[in-house]
Amino acid sequence: MNCISLVCLLLCTGVSSFRFEELTQYVNSHEEEFIKTLRQWIAVESDSSDVTKRSDLHRMMDMTAEKLRLIGGSVEMVDVGMQSLPNGSSIALPKVVTAEFGSDPSKRTVCVYGHVDVQPAKKEDGWATEPYELTDIDGNLYGRGASDNKAPVLAWIHTVEVYKALNIDLPVNVKFIIEGMEETGSNGLDDMIVAQKDTFFSDVDYIIISDCVWLSKRPALTYGTRGNCYFFAEVTDYLHSVFAKRNSPNKLNVTMVIGAKPWLADPKHPLYEAGKAAVKRVFDVEPDLIREGGTIPIARSFQDVTGKSIIMLPIGGFDDGLHSQNEKISRYNYIEGTKLFIAYLHEVSQIKKY
Ligand SMILES: [Zn+2]
Repeated sequence: MNCISLVCLLLCTGVSSFRFEELTQYVNSHEEEFIKTLRQWIAVESDSSDVTKRSDLHRMMDMTAEKLRLIGGSVEMVDVGMQSLPNGSSIALPKVVTAEFGSDPSKRTVCVYGHVDVQPAKKEDGWATEPYELTDIDGNLYGRGASDNKAPVLAWIHTVEVYKALNIDLPVNVKFIIEGMEETGSNGLDDMIVAQKDTFFSDVDYIIISDCVWLSKRPALTYGTRGNCYFFAEVTDYLHSVFAKRNSPNKLNVTMVIGAKPWLADPKHPLYEAGKAAVKRVFDVEPDLIREGGTIPIARSFQDVTGKSIIMLPIGGFDDGLHSQNEKISRYNYIEGTKLFIAYLHEVSQIKKY
């Protein structure tokens, strides 16, 4: 075979187009840098349920936007309005960060959703380490928000960064939508999705959510969530009547909230086939195909409003302890998960338009 036919063969088969080894070597050689960025993000107490931490949450959104700008994204911070508080006052919601990398109409366009707010955490709750100081113990990175959802968001950002650093064209156009109110019900996001349905979302083919975890030590693709409902209880000056002062409010308000409707995707959809191929390439196993007991309310909103196909592609470990004490993500999941995303973008680019 002469050189011209070899080049032709490589181009026709696409073999030359995916420089996976080079990309993963870059990830390996930048592991400590990626962990350093995660450490900086974990240090921000972006607890969306505590209004006294709202300035930290705003700072977290600024840091996210800045990181996306630094790697060449076209970034916007979308004002989603105010949050009403039980005492009648209101406070600004954290802005939603959107970013765009590439707008080549011949390519697929994916939109990665994530969040950078966290659940509350205090050392005295039973943490073995300081929750807002990323602590590496035997290859596990402990810190509030490590697995839910800061490391997965960073892994996606690093995915784009690695392609760019090596001057390799992104195989698909990539958009980001990163919010700061997920842990308290994604306040303001639904309206924003509706408002941007025909603009930001118009050219999006697929939405990717990495806000979930594996079921076992094997990687997983999540194709359904059950939905949930929960209660808000507001207690004011709740004393036994013997001690209660006359005229004290002494009230208990209980509100039931339907947190999410169930969400279900087709695990045979090309998006999932692409996921299986990416898992096979990085981990050399077949993924678990799972439905979750928890809820990712925004998945259903994305589906209902935009009509786009969605995949949940987790990188967190089954034992990461989301929402509880000693939350962590392992170095392995963080770093190999970044490679999974790198491979996934390539596999999605291979999906034929139909
Ligand atoms: Zn989450």
